[in-house]
Amino acid sequence: MQLNQIFATRNARMKASEIRELLKLLDQPDIISFAGGIPDPALFPADEFAEAFKTALTPERQALALQYSVSEGYLPLREWIVREMATIGIVCEAENVLITSGSQQALDYLGKLFLSPGDTALVGWPTYLGALAAFNAYEPRYDRLSLKGNRTAESYAEGAAAAGSAVKFAYLSPDFANPTGETLDRTGRLRLLELADTLDCAIIEDAAYQSLRFDGEPVPPVLALELKQKGSIEDCRTVYCGTFSKTLAPGLRIGWAVAAKPVISQMVLLKQAADLHTSTINQMAVHGVAEACFDAHVEQLRAVYQRRRDVMLAALEDHMPEGVDWTRPEGGMFVWVTLPEGMNGADLLARSLETEKVAFVPGQAFFADGSGQNTIRLSLSNSNHAAIEDGIARLGRLLRSV
Ligand code: PMP
Repeated sequence: MQLNQIFATRNARMKASEIRELLKLLDQPDIISFAGGIPDPALFPADEFAEAFKTALTPERQALALQYSVSEGYLPLREWIVREMATIGIVCEAENVLITSGSQQALDYLGKLFLSPGDTALVGWPTYLGALAAFNAYEPRYDRLSLKGNRTAESYAEGAAAAGSAVKFAYLSPDFANPTGETLDRTGRLRLLELADTLDCAIIEDAAYQSLRFDGEPVPPVLALELKQKGSIEDCRTVYCGTFSKTLAPGLRIGWAVAAKPVISQMVLLKQAADLHTSTINQMAVHGVAEACFDAHVEQLRAVYQRRRDVMLAALEDHMPEGVDWTRPEGGMFVWVTLPEGMNGADLLARSLETEKVAFVPGQAFFADGSGQNTIRLSLSNSNHAAIEDGIARLGRLLRSV
């Protein structure tokens, strides 16, 4: 008997991505990779972490650090997050904060919290691949979240009703999105709030890259704008997901969700059922490092990534042929390239690996409807200036030849 024949139906939409499998093979030194959206390990605050772990393991602290702890998360870390949130206009209490195992876990819990099979989730076309992967397990129907055109709230509601259900949430990453690098302006955020009020659905604000602004004017988080309108977080429909993965280090798996207390309480129950709590010692270490150097460290990251962004944009300008377009992000880790209509990013990757030894992620996987064949995502965070210049020049050469 093949056990895969009795897997629950929800597994049908959870497929390994061919591209991810391919990209796993890319650790060879002769490949210039713009593929992984990962921080540069040379920038991890490793000494500070060594110190923080040492402190957590002193005789007075180790009983706490190595023991089970509460599902909500380590209180001093939640209090640090409350203070950090206040600096960006999100006034909340520790009871509004849940520590999760990376923000990816918050996305999973939010899918579990809101989506029954067939419910509608509004997502960008494209959107973060990991969010689609997290939500897919709950068997939603996707509709395209569009905040620029003149699509009405009714059209979303009608589409959901025709499919026998309702819109449960809109998910987006408003700052320097993965994969596009684009930022939603204040008008778009206000339009989103209006749309969600009309549809009476939640908003999931994925703020993974928010701290990594290089230039331009910061736009208040969606939750901060909603708080201004409604006066109290308890009346807000936005769930804010934060993470230390892009600012300190992803390997510790520390993220958080901020929302009205009934939402957090229910997520706490989900967490109890799933993994009891996030690693105690990792939460203590992240708290120690955040207290010691968060602002200075993020300042340094921004400066390094900003220069890489500049080098990448200049190289694209120099080497891309006519008909290729790309975004100009004000922060984060990604530049999104649109190739001429009819070109295929996955075919280009295969050729690029063979002839030019440059890796990137074909854009199609980021589209819930499988469109976007002529797009690719370039990550700027993990290559030095020479590699960026060389890699983009090679990509330009390849594009001229096809
Ligand atoms: N959201 C976005 C937009 C991301 O790009 C990522 C990481 N690639 C995550 C969430 C998940 O990050 P983590 O679980 O490490 O916090």
